[in-house]
Amino acid sequence: MRRILIFSWITIVAVFFFSTIPSRAEEGTTAKTAKHAKKASKKVNAKLKEKQKEKKKSGKKDSGKKKGSGKKKTKQETAAHKPVVTKAEEPEPAAVVTEIRHWSNPDYTRIAVTLDREARFEYHKIPATGDAGAPRVYIDITDARLDPGVKDHPIGDGLLKTARVAQYKADVVRVVLDLDSIKDYKIFTFSNPFRIIIDVKGDRKPEISAIKETIQEAPPMAEAAKVSAVEEKNLPAKKGKPGKIRRIVVDPGHGGHDPGAVGAGGTREKDVVLQIGLKLAQKLKEELGLDVVMTRSTDVFIELQERTAIANKVGADLFVSVHANASLNRNASGMETYYLNLAKTEKAAQLAAKENGTSLEKVSLLQAVLFDLMANYKLNDSAHLADEVQKAAYGKANGLFPMKNLGVKQGPFYVLVGATMPSILVEAAFLSNEREEERLKDARYQETVAEGIMAGIKGYISSLK
Ligand SMILES: [Zn+2]
Repeated sequence: MRRILIFSWITIVAVFFFSTIPSRAEEGTTAKTAKHAKKASKKVNAKLKEKQKEKKKSGKKDSGKKKGSGKKKTKQETAAHKPVVTKAEEPEPAAVVTEIRHWSNPDYTRIAVTLDREARFEYHKIPATGDAGAPRVYIDITDARLDPGVKDHPIGDGLLKTARVAQYKADVVRVVLDLDSIKDYKIFTFSNPFRIIIDVKGDRKPEISAIKETIQEAPPMAEAAKVSAVEEKNLPAKKGKPGKIRRIVVDPGHGGHDPGAVGAGGTREKDVVLQIGLKLAQKLKEELGLDVVMTRSTDVFIELQERTAIANKVGADLFVSVHANASLNRNASGMETYYLNLAKTEKAAQLAAKENGTSLEKVSLLQAVLFDLMANYKLNDSAHLADEVQKAAYGKANGLFPMKNLGVKQGPFYVLVGATMPSILVEAAFLSNEREEERLKDARYQETVAEGIMAGIKGYISSLK
């Protein structure tokens, strides 16, 4: 039996209806807490359901299958409209499934299926069927083939047993998730590389306490991150009293093949934010006596979801991502700090698209499901941390190099999705602005920004006491 969850339909429909970000975002601005956020989400969903009904009435029928994002029409669809092939077309090479990974979090498990290009997919849930066993979710990826190196992926974390993968048909790769428990699941995509992300929520089997071990099984993070990280094995798994800040993850944005923004003078975001991040890590250790784990301490590429996964894995109490801004308007300048939420302005949405390495359309899609992804996000604490950091970092920077205070803002940044601790993203200045590009290169400015972020974190910690 195939059960079609209305949610997925909504996700797809959302792409078409969520074309005006500011108007959607206004709904989110009333959501001050996660609880309210949930309500707002329901409201959005209810509206989308209405629109869906209208759409059905107007004659367009749901095919009964859920379809993922993808540019191409399937062969069947094309064939239906074009029975006679008039012109030989270059066949599109199949997308290749190159990797399956997972991250076990306290309340959900995330699976990422990576492909070498965007592909179309459908997904279905099969409920538990008596003796035939456990419930399953399966995903069929069309015009795809399986890299021979990709094998079934054991999970066993109490929510998922395994992720099985096979070349189901000549041009279809099927991924089957065998579930131990499921309350809800969400499927969405990330870009560059194209990934199908499945978040499964449920009640973890109480006897399974091997979550930490499972996390350790995840593919090793970049070497650099390991080197810079405090010896992870020696880290106590459990945090102390709530509110006590002991461990911070510092995340210099981009790296490796991803330069981030590039200034007119050739300055690369990945280089300047690494310098700021290294200086910040040192200060946090030396001056505040905190454990610091860096997502990267050299010029390596780390996927966005890996960054918060590192923070969750080491039981970090705070997560700070450091970036440099860019705008088509070369006059744009100043410092700003973000936390995760719906973008309130078109500018914030555009910045999120840039930092996410994706399109504005994809950001709209992410916004449609954001509240569901934010269940564990510390919204108020993150806003508070952002306030302290922006105030202190801007104050220090402005004292040495007078600049604009762009304040605290909200946006749907992939890198903050999935973080279970207060987490923010600092945009230290604009690389697209000639004067600020010079500053960002300047070791004194980097030092000042690091000093300021550290002071903000210090302020945040003192306010908890
Ligand atoms: Zn960036």
